[in-house]
Amino acid sequence: MEEHWVWIWIGLAVVLLPVQFFIAPPYGRHNKNSWGLQINSKIGWIIMELVALLSFFISFVLGEGFTPVTLVIAGLFTLHYIHRSIIYPFLTRSGSKTMPVLIVIFAIIFNSINGYINGDYLGANPGEYPLEYFGDIRFMAGLTIFCIGAFINIIADYYLISLRKNGRQDVYHIPKGFLFGRISCPNHFGEILEWTGFAILAWNLPALAFAAWTVSNLIPRAWHHHKWYKQKFPEYPRERKVVFPGVF
Ligand code: NDP
Repeated sequence: MEEHWVWIWIGLAVVLLPVQFFIAPPYGRHNKNSWGLQINSKIGWIIMELVALLSFFISFVLGEGFTPVTLVIAGLFTLHYIHRSIIYPFLTRSGSKTMPVLIVIFAIIFNSINGYINGDYLGANPGEYPLEYFGDIRFMAGLTIFCIGAFINIIADYYLISLRKNGRQDVYHIPKGFLFGRISCPNHFGEILEWTGFAILAWNLPALAFAAWTVSNLIPRAWHHHKWYKQKFPEYPRERKVVFPGVF
């Protein structure tokens, strides 16, 4: 895809960052059933996240070719989305909760563009990723950040899910321990780290766009979660930050 389109895509993420502080996308705890037609949450997650996997895979394999490095980068993207689309939704404990079809449609648009531009770039530019790139500081530093982020994201998501192990599936608890002692949303912090690491290791514009969109989606979402916790639980720890330990 032409570079200027990716810059426009990044520009849209930047514009939506402040907007999403005013409008909390209504899924999970923020779903007020006011956005029209609803769909079961698990099914919604599977559909909207599978699109990223498919669009990435198709645009990558239809490219010019691959190198061991592009295969590893594609593997990281693919592993993340296999987990997000066909493992994570089945392990959530959200009962018969729903989400608006409109959210699923927005996410399908985001995920198909994101998957397409990232797969397309890697598939079209294998020459930028020779074998020596494995030893490049960008690859090594980015991979380290990606792995730390993925670890934090997964541990935090499954910790949250485990809070409902023995109880009702529509109840929320105050999370404690792990990074929850410092921030309200370690899962979002981990995801931001993960795609920042990916942008560093892949060092291309579509990967930067993915990181920008993740920041744009998740900093406001974490802020809404944090505000919600403080309103719902008067005893919620005051010293806890939103999403970046010790900072915000
Ligand atoms: P949440 O933290 O809102 O929810 C995660 C899961 O834990 C849900 O099943 C939720 O249930 C449950 N849960 C959360 N808090 C509690 C609690 N206090 N007590 C009991 N159960 C709880 O995560 P999101 O839905 O925002 O995101 C899910 C994943 O998707 C995250 O890993 C996130 O990083 C990722 N994501 C990535 C985006 C990107 O742009 N890259 C965009 C959006 C999400 P319930 O659904 O019932 O609230």
